[in-house]
Amino acid sequence: MFDFRGKKVFITGGTRGIGKAVSEKFAKHGADIAITYFKEKILAKNLINSLSGSNHNCFQLDISDKDQVQNTIDDAISFLGGLDIVINNAGIFIDHPIFEVTYDDWQDSWHSTLETNLIGPANVCYFAGSYFKKKKKGKIINISSRGANRGEPTAPAYGASKAGLNALSQSLAIALAPYNIFVGVVAPGFVETDMTAEILSSSKGDIIKSQSPLNRVGQPEEIANAVMMMAMDGMEYATGSIIDLNGASYLR
Ligand code: NAP
Repeated sequence: MFDFRGKKVFITGGTRGIGKAVSEKFAKHGADIAITYFKEKILAKNLINSLSGSNHNCFQLDISDKDQVQNTIDDAISFLGGLDIVINNAGIFIDHPIFEVTYDDWQDSWHSTLETNLIGPANVCYFAGSYFKKKKKGKIINISSRGANRGEPTAPAYGASKAGLNALSQSLAIALAPYNIFVGVVAPGFVETDMTAEILSSSKGDIIKSQSPLNRVGQPEEIANAVMMMAMDGMEYATGSIIDLNGASYLR
């Protein structure tokens, strides 16, 4: 079903979890990959060496640093010899329940979360969009979350960042459509990754699984399948769409 031979793909946060599964699937179906890592250089190098095909590389990026984004995208384009698809996947989740954190911690959580999950991806869209405009073609897929709509009571900045990412994506889908640039969103519910490992192995794990009538959480590969579907040729009319993947745990 998927054929990405010759496509050049940039994936933020490709070291682990969903980003790793997305990278593996694109490479398996013929794409050349540039992934970014934040702290896990060894994981990134190991992944690059394990991928199908040979024209892949990894680049260090702190997406919350506005000055790093342009250089990293330029380096990735230069390595790949072009760019076709961008996946804004890197993200963080910080618990900051309103009555349990100091005001300083509240501030820090809001700043870090919004800079990483919303402003960073917006900056990636700025530079990737500018490149795609010249090329008159490109696809941007942003990884949001169920929490954008369902709410995140102990991590309101996370919920707000993902709601903002949805709004950013839909605004850009309209703004960039005349330039043949696609913008779509994949919004997972709970997925088994490092981000959720602690809570899923706690006493809350079974309650979280039971939120879905499938009585389980998602796997990174399932999220990667939806990303691939949006990224494939022939899905252009889905621009502006948000694909919910949450095992019917939250229907809207
Ligand atoms: P994860 O396993 O925790 O991996 C996070 C990735 O983001 C890593 O590659 C990490 O790089 C990178 N990263 C973290 N901070 C960064 C920064 N400041 N700059 C650049 N990269 C940074 O996460 P995941 O569960 O796969 O989640 C991936 C995406 O899906 C996120 O946007 C998340 O919000 C979203 N999502 C996840 C779930 C879930 O249940 N897991 C549900 C809904 C949405 P290093 O490894 O180098 O540190």
